[in-house]
Amino acid sequence: MHNEHDMPVLTPRDDAAHGPHGTDSTDCRGCGTCCRKGGPALHAQDLDLFRAGHLAPEHCLTLRAGELARDLDGELRPLERELVKLRPRQILRQSARGGDWSCLFLNQADNRCSIYAHRPSECRALLCRDTWAIRTLHAVDRVTRLDVLAAWAEGAAERVNLTGGCADPGVPWADILAAHEERCGYGVLAPVGAVGEALRRAAENIRARDPGMAHPAPLSGEPGDPATTDESAHAAATFLDAVRFDFAFRSIVRERAGAAMEELDFLLGRTLAATAVMYGVAVRMTPEGPELVVLPG
Ligand code: SF4
Repeated sequence: MHNEHDMPVLTPRDDAAHGPHGTDSTDCRGCGTCCRKGGPALHAQDLDLFRAGHLAPEHCLTLRAGELARDLDGELRPLERELVKLRPRQILRQSARGGDWSCLFLNQADNRCSIYAHRPSECRALLCRDTWAIRTLHAVDRVTRLDVLAAWAEGAAERVNLTGGCADPGVPWADILAAHEERCGYGVLAPVGAVGEALRRAAENIRARDPGMAHPAPLSGEPGDPATTDESAHAAATFLDAVRFDFAFRSIVRERAGAAMEELDFLLGRTLAATAVMYGVAVRMTPEGPELVVLPG
């Protein structure tokens, strides 16, 4: 936690309005609240942590371009560029709701950071009672997956313990990530008949038809269903097609590139199924495969 100040890259302001750096007016109380809201986004100055082996790709989660993410002001907005952050303790792969978004490195028992000496730059900058440093750093030099993979590969010669598929510089990761984005990218889904908007409208129709709905309702897309239209049926089919591709692609990357499940959260980001809630729907797995449902409002 932020209970010391050892050579931060950006520190909270040391001015009269905020009190001298390190005094009671700006010191971290060690409550752990910031670490429970999700791990920090990573910046160029954090890449040395990968080169040195203090962090590994499996410690990260990628939020892909177009995915909704909470900004500093707490608003959910689609990301213009992908963002790599330290992973939370528990990621649900079929639902965006639930899970434990506390940083992987937070010791829940005493609110201590288990990599305190090697914590990323945002953790060094953040003090909840003086947000100037974190606001200044926030959008600067954020890293991509390829930046992290390059830094990890650069440090390979010095590290003793090499584990996982991400350690293999022979894997053409740039091509693999591009192939996944081509079929499952949010930017690809949006223009194809405005899939997200059509799903959102269909979900609203279904909720309007049954305002008191207590259980998830299938978004059938069946002809004759008054809640769905040709547009929403097409959107549902397109989205489910991408969901199936996403699951299959992940299996192939695991098998052929030897990537661990945790590494997939970094390499390919959260599953499309987990982020379907962006469009007001959810993916339910059935023996016949994934289907779309509308969740109660
Ligand atoms: S790395 Fe440490 S300081 Fe940073 S969010 Fe995680 S637990 Fe908190």
